[in-house]
Amino acid sequence: MAAGYIDARGSEVGEEIEASVAIFGAGAAGLTLARELSRKIGGVALIEAGGFDLEGETQSLYFGNQLGLPYYNLAACRLRYFGGTTNHWSGFCRANDAIDYEGRPVLGLPKWPVTPQEVEPYIRSAAESLGISGDFFDVGLFVESLGLSSDELADGRSEVLETKVFQVARDIRLGKIYREPLGSTGNLTVYHHLNAVHVRLAADGSRVEAVDCATLTGRKIRVKAKITVLCCHAIENARLLLVSNDVMNVGIGNESGCVGRYFMDHTHIFASRFIPSPTFPLIYDKRFTERNNLNLNVGFKDDFLRKENLLQYYCRFNPVYFDEDIGESVRNIRYGLFEPGDVRFLKDVANVLSDIHGVAAQAATYQDMLPYPLPRYYKLEHRLEQAPNPHSRIVISDRKDALGSAIADLDWQINEHDIDSFRRGQEYLVNEFSALGYGRAEIEEITPELVKSRVSGHYHHIGTTRMSDTPADGVVNGDCRVHNVANLYIGGSSTFPTAGYSGPTMMIIGFSLRLADRIVADLQA
Ligand SMILES: Cc1cc2nc3c(=O)[nH]c(=O)nc-3n(C[C@H](O)[C@H](O)[C@H](O)COP(=O)(O)OP(=O)(O)OC[C@H]3O[C@@H](n4cnc5c(N)ncnc54)[C@H](O)[C@@H]3O)c2cc1C
Repeated sequence: MAAGYIDARGSEVGEEIEASVAIFGAGAAGLTLARELSRKIGGVALIEAGGFDLEGETQSLYFGNQLGLPYYNLAACRLRYFGGTTNHWSGFCRANDAIDYEGRPVLGLPKWPVTPQEVEPYIRSAAESLGISGDFFDVGLFVESLGLSSDELADGRSEVLETKVFQVARDIRLGKIYREPLGSTGNLTVYHHLNAVHVRLAADGSRVEAVDCATLTGRKIRVKAKITVLCCHAIENARLLLVSNDVMNVGIGNESGCVGRYFMDHTHIFASRFIPSPTFPLIYDKRFTERNNLNLNVGFKDDFLRKENLLQYYCRFNPVYFDEDIGESVRNIRYGLFEPGDVRFLKDVANVLSDIHGVAAQAATYQDMLPYPLPRYYKLEHRLEQAPNPHSRIVISDRKDALGSAIADLDWQINEHDIDSFRRGQEYLVNEFSALGYGRAEIEEITPELVKSRVSGHYHHIGTTRMSDTPADGVVNGDCRVHNVANLYIGGSSTFPTAGYSGPTMMIIGFSLRLADRIVADLQA
């Protein structure tokens, strides 16, 4: 183990740790902040709940129940060890659009207390650190850089459509990347296997005095720092503020009741089919774009979103070459275990032969040398920014985890704006694609029941300690400092007031770089 790493279960650390800045959580937010701060100041402590690999007992501290719409298992959709959830993120990155920072009260979208211009340099640095090109602001340029023609983009032919690109980060396992460099800076100490359990405020509530921490082996350690930063991911950040209710009985930063509320993800549903004409632009075919290392989606221009009061919406075209029962036969033949003479094998072969044209066409999509065939139809995947909704929230239960802390459950909810934007997003998109001559749609009506029975998220946890100008409608200010608490900051997507269209992680990294500057300025003030 490199110097600078201390296992809190051992005797190397006493009952108290002192630091200039104590950062809790070594995921995307905490690691970025620790690296930046340790380049500029000394005495930084990074406190991480887990070790350097998945450990069942630590991971179990993330268990929680689902109280609302079905969501991912809370102990599986985030990871509690060094590197955090970046130990299994997929690396899809994109910067927020200008519209994401605007307030659109009619949709319940609050204005961010920062401007896109101010944030942009930090986002560019974040992109660079992830090994991705800064060209995401110009889709045409990016597409051309991959050797594809930008003429196929619908943007130039339609008044309302806009193509949006995700890039895949090259360096995505942040725990592995940062472990060595963080261990060798003299300005930082990493304490692992140490869990924050309670944020202790001064009697008047104006400052953090210490953070009570515990190990699963029974040690209790108190961390005292000039500045405390919670970077424990959106559910845990809110949980820590809510359970620390000895001085402020509603929890820290919760005077307006916002802590834990407005939990958002990027939602998606599958609905309807699109039957392509020969002029359908292959650049929107999901398989074709993946074959070209591209993640391209079609949504709407900002002006159209504003005019129509739509949440950020985009669509993916998933090619289907044959019916589902034939797909099952293909899978059986490929992976099934048949005894010699098993008639089920013959049935599967006969089934595949009944649509050999479709099966061959799909096979051709995997062969670069053959012309790419159009599918029979596209299954439409509608993706949406979730509207902020106070009823979508973290709920502190009466149950206790192995450290004796109250467990956080999740009540995930969507509202009428989500359903309306799914419905009208689909309608406008297929109408526009049909008008451009790209094919015709077989529409499924998007009802609240359909959305609620099909909706799922993307593992992006956003909004539970949101930024705002005043404490009346948020938890942290534009610098990500908890309103009315002088030395408590929060890092990560829990501070984002709106979810926008983009995956959160590159934005998290950008905002952590910005937070480092704010903290250094705060210390120098
Ligand atoms: C399968 C999957 C795919 C994903 N793909 C993408 C993608 O393509 N694009 C994208 O943008 N995002 C993606 N994400 C989301 C991405 O992983 C998160 O946005 C990101 O990791 C959040 O960073 P964070 O630092 O806020 O939290 P984390 O990375 O989860 O880090 C939090 C850290 O805090 C520690 N911690 C927690 N509680 C405590 C405590 N009480 N005391 C001390 N330490 C604590 C944890 O152990 C962890 O190390 C994906 C997520 C999943 C699960």
